[in-house]
Amino acid sequence: MFQINENYPKLPGSYLFSEIGRRVNAFQKEHPEQEIIRLGIGDVTRPLMPSVVRAMHAAVDEMSRAETFRGYAPEQGYEFLRTRIARHDFASRGCDISPDEIFVSDGAKCDVSNIQEIFSTDCRIAVGDPVYPVYVDANVMAGRAGEYDPDTLRWSRVIYLPCTEENGFVPELPEETPDLIYLCSPNNPTGTAMNRQELQKWVDYANREHAVILFDAAYEAYIHENNIPHSIFECPGAKTCAIEIRSFSKTAGFTGVRLGYTVVPRELVTAGGQALHPLWIRRQSTRFNGVSYIQQQAGAAVYTEEGQREVEESIAYYMENAKRIREGLQAAGFTASGGVNAPYIWLKTPGGLSSWQFFDQLLEQYGLVGTPGAGFGACGEGYFRLTAFGSHENTDRAMERLRRGTFG
Ligand code: PLP
Repeated sequence: MFQINENYPKLPGSYLFSEIGRRVNAFQKEHPEQEIIRLGIGDVTRPLMPSVVRAMHAAVDEMSRAETFRGYAPEQGYEFLRTRIARHDFASRGCDISPDEIFVSDGAKCDVSNIQEIFSTDCRIAVGDPVYPVYVDANVMAGRAGEYDPDTLRWSRVIYLPCTEENGFVPELPEETPDLIYLCSPNNPTGTAMNRQELQKWVDYANREHAVILFDAAYEAYIHENNIPHSIFECPGAKTCAIEIRSFSKTAGFTGVRLGYTVVPRELVTAGGQALHPLWIRRQSTRFNGVSYIQQQAGAAVYTEEGQREVEESIAYYMENAKRIREGLQAAGFTASGGVNAPYIWLKTPGGLSSWQFFDQLLEQYGLVGTPGAGFGACGEGYFRLTAFGSHENTDRAMERLRRGTFG
């Protein structure tokens, strides 16, 4: 008689974006005439960059010839990509990361959710609140989160790090000591990025407490200010306490191509002396069969001069939207933050509305879709996330609709 993993039924019924999709579809069915502008889901909208398209075509051509055909990729990824990552993303910023500490993957979502497998289920996790829901759900599935309280939106064994207006949406050191600490900077959903001092404080804390930081830098390319580290390895001491996860999705528009990587430093060991690097090699070679040559060549193209120029252009395009959203919100009397080092803008819901009430009003009265803050955790209640991934035109039209709006 089969039984299911008893942790799965504990997961809240519907995934945040499925619930948003359900409400939008229901509304659209009743009001087919209403044009909907989506500033909700964090997906890019611009087509693939020319350098990437060329590299993918060339890789397909190579694979179509018997002499240059390629099958399974090396388990950590091709050397040509890992050396470029090490040089461009780390050495250029003074971080000593070698190509063999880099594990190429099909994106950050898999890595941030799978990396917890190499830790004991007894480990206590800490997450920011609000939080990218994948961190928590993956630990629920693994049996590490305890029991869920739908009234408080909290799991009994998870240590929450409130990110509020009072602390500038930057997590503070907790009273209870966690073993695994998820930090996301620039942050989804708040759009806040941690500065050098703030991140160093966490690195020192993790080393002191023998905790591991799982640092999600998926939005690193959106950093504009000088005092914001692009990598946690810019902080002295991080190699003995941190794993970093990166993605090509938002950097180079790869959400549909799929490519990311994780850095597991060789110096990262448990208090008992067990190194994590060989464990992650073992795990990946058992449960993952690599990323295609085509995707990895596409990734390598991102590091060429032309690729870098195109990345800059694309980020500048989205960040122009972020600026228009920030200014539009201000003109419409909203309180908002983020959007300076991240493509996300975090606004306070007006008139004391809950975040789902605001979602419904925006959708029903103005045909606008955003993401209710409560979907990211208790501290997200009373907040709402807008993203800069639309077109200039739609962003302007969305702001115009908001300016005209009365809420409450
Ligand atoms: N990490 C964060 C914080 C994200 O917001 C996202 C995607 O939205 C991801 C990871 C997933 O990235 P990928 O497309 O590489 O799986």
